[in-house]
Amino acid sequence: MGFLSVLGMAHKLAGDRLSPGDTAVDATCGNGNDTLFLAEQIGPRGRVYAFDIQEQALRRTKERFASALPRERLPELCLIHGSHAGMAMHIAEDSRKRLGAVMFNLGFLPGPEADTSIITKTASTLAALDASLGLLRPGGILTIVLYPGHPGGDQEAAAVEQWASSLPQGAGQAVLYRMPQKPASPFLLAVEKKSIQTKD
Ligand code: SAM
Repeated sequence: MGFLSVLGMAHKLAGDRLSPGDTAVDATCGNGNDTLFLAEQIGPRGRVYAFDIQEQALRRTKERFASALPRERLPELCLIHGSHAGMAMHIAEDSRKRLGAVMFNLGFLPGPEADTSIITKTASTLAALDASLGLLRPGGILTIVLYPGHPGGDQEAAAVEQWASSLPQGAGQAVLYRMPQKPASPFLLAVEKKSIQTKD
């Protein structure tokens, strides 16, 4: 039967926590697959924010979004051409209490015309993870797909693992989904924000 893929598990964890009318964030929209998944979970009363630093990624996401579902089943889509590190500036106040999931799929934009030298960078990724955890509603989830198999991705993956390990338990609970026999394969880290904030 096999296990869920890393992306499948990220979708399961996010989908289990989202309800119609929620807000969700795709922090690295790329080809728009995760944006579309989030849109399907939150429906027409919801709002999805999609960030990317590449214009072609936003264009692909917009096209994918518009062609995949009838208009009346789509949530509001807020496309942001800019780094996810500045996320807090873009999420409207009224969206924050309904923010149930923030998804990161790190690395480079896949596809024949994509520039694979444009990759996510450790410093902005860590800033965006901190911002996401602050913005999520209690019980909301942060999913991060990491790629240790490409240059730059290995340091970023190690730094994100370190970030998650050192999170105070009162802030959230982190889990790791990984194939230990294949250390260079992509893996998933997820953090569920504590339902009730505790001091520790
Ligand atoms: N989630 C996408 C999908 O479903 O198709 C795949 C994302 S792809 C693996 C990674 C994306 O991160 C690329 O499109 C890249 O341009 C984007 N990216 C890199 N640095 C970024 C940053 N600082 N802020 C937002 N997006 C960034």
